[in-house]
Amino acid sequence: MDRKPIIAVDGVSGSGKSTIARTLARKYGLTYIDTGAMYRALTYYAMQEHYLQEGEFFKNLLIADLNKIEIGFDAQGHTLLNGQDVETEIRSMDVSQNVSLVSSVPEVRQAMVLLQRSISRQNGIAMDGRDIGTVVFPDADVKLFIVSDPRVRARRRCDELKAKGVEVDFEQVLDNITSRDYMDTHRETSPLVKAPDAIEIDNSTLTLTQQEEEIDRIVAEKLKKY
Ligand code: C5P
Repeated sequence: MDRKPIIAVDGVSGSGKSTIARTLARKYGLTYIDTGAMYRALTYYAMQEHYLQEGEFFKNLLIADLNKIEIGFDAQGHTLLNGQDVETEIRSMDVSQNVSLVSSVPEVRQAMVLLQRSISRQNGIAMDGRDIGTVVFPDADVKLFIVSDPRVRARRRCDELKAKGVEVDFEQVLDNITSRDYMDTHRETSPLVKAPDAIEIDNSTLTLTQQEEEIDRIVAEKLKKY
């Protein structure tokens, strides 16, 4: 291959997509982009501005602000919202509970897809999200679709947060994961769906090493053709 590849990693919430995309980016020297972080940053912005409160979402106010909101990443990969590091804030349960509502707005998606496509392809890209292989880069060289049992995902997420010293309720995490899956697969604009040419990996019973081996094999095989 005489150019660097584009790798799309889509799938359900909490299935480890970002770990996979980050690992592939490191391995192949690609730029890693977490598109979920972008939707999370917009959600955090809407919450800060009180566009989201008591179950009501004033989406037109957010749409009107879209051209003055800057989202990016710093050298450590932390998410920046209008220049401010919001990496910790966007991972909160409050943001997780509202993000699927915000990401279902067509104008929001349009703005984010433009931003995602504007990233230079020169270094190659490993991008994770929900619509990367279907909408953002339908011409991606490799498309992975990651699924996993919801209870396994919730358990892993709880363990991860516990390791960081954050205590969370298993049922609440499970409920968030399943309701985001539902909203993300049922929205009208670019719902979460497996691209016909994506390779599905169910990691419910795989260890991280087994998953890495399987993905390495798939990616190496795909990239060999170029
Ligand atoms: O990947 P993560 O779980 O952080 O994504 C948070 C939310 O952002 C998803 O539940 C989904 O609603 C939205 N999202 C999206 N399209 C993407 C990435 C994320 O709609 N490409």
